[in-house]
Amino acid sequence: MERIGHHIGGKQVPGESGRSGPVFDPATGAQTHEVDFASAEEIDRAVDAAREAFPAWRSTSLSRRSDIMFRVRELLEDRKVDLAKIITSQHGKVLSDAVGEVQRGLENVEFACGVPNLLKGGFSEQVSTGVDVYSIRQPLGVVAGITPFNFPAMVPLWMCANAIACGNTFVLKPSEKDPGASMFIAELFRDAGLPDGVFNVTHGDKVAVDRILEHPDIRAVSFVGSTPIARYIYETGTRNGKRVQALGGAKNHMVVLPDADVEMAADAAVSAAYGSAGERCMAISIVVAVGDVGDRLVGAIAERLPKLMIGPGNEPESEMGPLVTREHRDKVAAAIERGREQGATVIADGREHARTSMDGFFLGVSLLDDVTTEMDAYRDEIFGPVLSVVRTDTYEEAVRLVNENPYGNGVAIFTRDGGAARQFQFEVEAGMVGVNVPIPVPVGYYSFGGWKSSLFGDAHMYGPEGVHFYTKGKVVTARWPDPATSAVDLGFPRTR
Ligand code: NAD
Repeated sequence: MERIGHHIGGKQVPGESGRSGPVFDPATGAQTHEVDFASAEEIDRAVDAAREAFPAWRSTSLSRRSDIMFRVRELLEDRKVDLAKIITSQHGKVLSDAVGEVQRGLENVEFACGVPNLLKGGFSEQVSTGVDVYSIRQPLGVVAGITPFNFPAMVPLWMCANAIACGNTFVLKPSEKDPGASMFIAELFRDAGLPDGVFNVTHGDKVAVDRILEHPDIRAVSFVGSTPIARYIYETGTRNGKRVQALGGAKNHMVVLPDADVEMAADAAVSAAYGSAGERCMAISIVVAVGDVGDRLVGAIAERLPKLMIGPGNEPESEMGPLVTREHRDKVAAAIERGREQGATVIADGREHARTSMDGFFLGVSLLDDVTTEMDAYRDEIFGPVLSVVRTDTYEEAVRLVNENPYGNGVAIFTRDGGAARQFQFEVEAGMVGVNVPIPVPVGYYSFGGWKSSLFGDAHMYGPEGVHFYTKGKVVTARWPDPATSAVDLGFPRTR
């Protein structure tokens, strides 16, 4: 069995804790790797490597840092499919989707290539006689990222590209379910000329995470994962004096108004609900059908489901792959059963799909109609290929539903009415809004983040807010010696 160790100080190092976990190929159900879990001491070693690399890296010129980012970009572009294949083999998503993931991650590297421009400060000349003021942004030091299984390349790239370009050194603790992608990325950065110790990868579970949260030399923690863990990371990290951004789970609604193009809305709902087997934090899990659009829309969605090709992610005709683990597949299957017991109308039941009884962690797609806000299918983040339809009589009721939901990651409205869409954008309580766009993930030069229980902390991730998160501001007030204006003055500094 091939082992996956850590990447510390520019080298692959085997784990020494004696603890490890299995990595599966979700399409076959077979274990393919064993990944080492870091002890607290191994995390300390990665942090030591990052701390030692920091002084030289923060002193490296902006043009050199930008140059390395451009090289990372070229290497990632060239090796996109190789990375995507690793993702497919450990996560299960279909290859085209994995390539799309890498492409979206690449946007963050492209953004970070502009670091000389991103770190420009302000300058005010002659704020007082002979005195100038300017602002600069400086890196924090060693920063850490803790990432989820569902985007094993894109989410680490959300973090490491900006963190490193801004002059920090980075320790990544990716998901233990699909750790291969982050090792590949760390090697690409090294091949692009990044000095040893600037980018380290350590694998593991709560032991590793807890050491990251308490390590005195780690200045900031970026986290993406489920809401209970995000809350824990935020509370523990900030209690230990760290800057923390912790992105959590989601329950994304797609509101469909009666005037919407039903065929377009059905295509969008199917794509956004079942793509990547629903294991996306921006997946649509609730369709809110307003007024008389319900029957037409449910009919159009149901019509599309038998045509979806479910199969191994490395087969070109597959549109949806398996779920990440057997436990997760079984948990999603149990959620379908609970939906039925609690009174939802089961239009399609993924448990009945032929693939479900074959090897691998497959589950077909499910469609639940007549779901109400009291049902678990509405309240829980299922994180699988299950779409629930809630019906409301009015637009106002639909918006109230979205706003009362504890999550606020993404939301979408489908309508032909520009005024309604504008009103929706104005009053809806979510961080990312789509207008006739079901998965409104912001491009790399904006920032990504939800509201309410979908994000703990003040800073959204990547883009301008990412640069802000990974740097601290400093303002310099300067006067050069001029005997003509020098005098003792015990008063509070004034501008004159
Ligand atoms: P998870 O919360 O189980 O794990 C995320 C990370 O936390 C992993 O690295 C894991 O090892 C670590 N972890 C798990 N349990 C821990 C514990 N008890 N203590 C300390 N660390 C722990 O999430 P997941 O299952 O890997 O990913 C799916 C979740 O991530 C979903 O809830 C999804 O909505 C969310 N997600 C959110 C976003 C977003 O941008 N808001 C993006 C992607 C995924």
